[in-house]
Amino acid sequence: MKFGAYLFKPERVNGFDFHLFRVKPEVGRRQPPQPDMYSNVAIFGDNVTAREHPEWVSQSEYGPALRTNDRYNFRWDILCHTVPEFREEMLKYIAEVDRASLGVWLNSIHFADHGHCICPRCKEKWKKSGLSWYEWRKKEVTDYIAQIRDVVKKELVIGLLPDPVCSYERFGIDFDALAPYADAFNVVMFSKSYATPWYWEMLCMAFKKLLKKPVYISLYVFGPGDDYREVPSPSELLTVSVRCGRTGIDGILYLADSASQLVDFQKAAVDKVELRQKLKSYGCPEVLELVERWEKIVK
Ligand SMILES: [Zn+2]
Repeated sequence: MKFGAYLFKPERVNGFDFHLFRVKPEVGRRQPPQPDMYSNVAIFGDNVTAREHPEWVSQSEYGPALRTNDRYNFRWDILCHTVPEFREEMLKYIAEVDRASLGVWLNSIHFADHGHCICPRCKEKWKKSGLSWYEWRKKEVTDYIAQIRDVVKKELVIGLLPDPVCSYERFGIDFDALAPYADAFNVVMFSKSYATPWYWEMLCMAFKKLLKKPVYISLYVFGPGDDYREVPSPSELLTVSVRCGRTGIDGILYLADSASQLVDFQKAAVDKVELRQKLKSYGCPEVLELVERWEKIVK
């Protein structure tokens, strides 16, 4: 297993195998890629572009793909998948990001959700395709990833939302169709609590069974603007890491705003001596060996 630091700031943290920097998160703000880090790019989730081009926002019978639309669970604004100018610009941007860093990890590659997008351009493209609605959406998503694969010369990792069953109908995502283009998948499993690890472990088993490339998961440590009282406890994070790790997944990333919060997590994990002892019989020595590595760094 490999372990990554996944940060909103271009900072490195000792004790991780690799570093993933959010050069363009879903808020849409862009920061320069770093030569010694992988770059995380959210494509269609993009608040900045949605504000600048409201006519590009994905449409449905239940309204646009905006954070304010309570019919869906959108955490950010999402653009229509077929805006030619945006696709073109993002393709160039992703190629540049790839050149300037170790490789590209994508998020938000897909249609917003069920019933998206029914803008006039999408409706026309769908009708012209002669395909079913779901197959047309899958083709749009897969073809765009194929174009991205052509411009990314280094590692390309495809981010998925944690829905192993309905991703095709909701997002136009076909795991098998995407696998040939991906060096690996990263399933984001962000939550402000991992109090019930059973569910996360089950999701890992499902994705490990379904995905035909290495599977990473991303866990939530501390987001921008968070309070220490509202984020997962170090004990929850250690336990869920072991429970997920024992399903055979290939790696875990830990998301934080900045390096200091991951260092705090490392220190707290090292201090959980009793829990670390207890978790030894759970069947995932890799996570516990990681904490042993941290012990030498943070003390
Ligand atoms: Zn559209």
